[in-house]
Amino acid sequence: MDHPDLVIIGGGPAGLAAAQYGARANLSVLVIEQLAPGGQALNISHLENYPGIAPGKTGWDFSEDLKKQAEQFGARFLAARVQSLAKSGDLFRLDLGPGGELNAPAVIIATGTTHRTLDVPGEKEFTGRGVSYCAACDGPFFKNKKIFVAGGGDSACDEAQYLSRLSPHIVLVHRRGQFRAQKALADRVLSNPHIEVRFNTRITEIRGGAGVSSVILETGGERREEDASAVFVFTGAVPQADFAAPLGLAANEAGCLITDQSMATAVPGLFVAGDVRATPFRQVVVAAGEGAVAAHSAALFLDELRGTAYR
Ligand code: NAP
Repeated sequence: MDHPDLVIIGGGPAGLAAAQYGARANLSVLVIEQLAPGGQALNISHLENYPGIAPGKTGWDFSEDLKKQAEQFGARFLAARVQSLAKSGDLFRLDLGPGGELNAPAVIIATGTTHRTLDVPGEKEFTGRGVSYCAACDGPFFKNKKIFVAGGGDSACDEAQYLSRLSPHIVLVHRRGQFRAQKALADRVLSNPHIEVRFNTRITEIRGGAGVSSVILETGGERREEDASAVFVFTGAVPQADFAAPLGLAANEAGCLITDQSMATAVPGLFVAGDVRATPFRQVVVAAGEGAVAAHSAALFLDELRGTAYR
């Protein structure tokens, strides 16, 4: 494969928007995605707060549309996993493991986040057998069953809402006395007759046989066992940027990468966009906007590098 001008690592909304903007700016753009393009957005059962797509659509359909749009402008896609990212001279070197190596003068990291686990006994054992991190994927297996949801942010509230359409027995367990989620989402959950909210409560163990059959709950030091058919975990997001460690990039305490307002890092030619960036508001629309800014900055950087900048 010829070396592209711009490699975008990650095919979620940030990466796909960057691909579209980069390709429209006449750069040869390659998006590297290890799974299906869409990233975490694929798990959104109903994306309703992205401007202009009322009454909303599934994260899957939305991601397909973004990918098609980027392809229409000439972006190419490669299914691979970036093992490490380093720079020598003017070129970045991307180690793709069995997929070989790639070089490019500009790179956008848009690798997003992965889900945080609860880290309790039984969670690993029953993952795929009742423990899930994706309501749209696994919810339909538990129609009309008693489902526990863990977490107190936007994801837990959104996904509890979705699950409440499949079963009237949803128990949303949050470790604090109030939700972290946006008020509109939290209010919807609190007034949903299919969702029982248990504040100041933790799931401390998941038990079962062939599948999940119960959870151990702890409230104010008191433990009890309750029947359960499934546990959906939405306890937050962990940035995916380990592969960039050789570059020594600045990050916040959560591991999210720090950039300036043009999405540039301290390494010339390296930009970051979307949920993997230290950003104050993680939303699909924000990720897409950051992707557009990063691609624009990458195009300006390449113009400077090649002496073709507009003066
Ligand atoms: P989040 O906002 O970080 O919330 C994670 C929740 O899980 C928090 O309530 C946290 O409790 C709880 N938690 C963390 N570790 C836990 C543990 N070990 N045991 C029990 N509970 C635990 O994560 P998120 O909800 O996945 O959202 C991630 C980002 O995406 C956010 O910026 C969010 O705004 C955005 N998002 C937006 C939408 C939307 O606009 N519709 C939808 C989904 C996500 P504490 O509150 O005590 O820390």
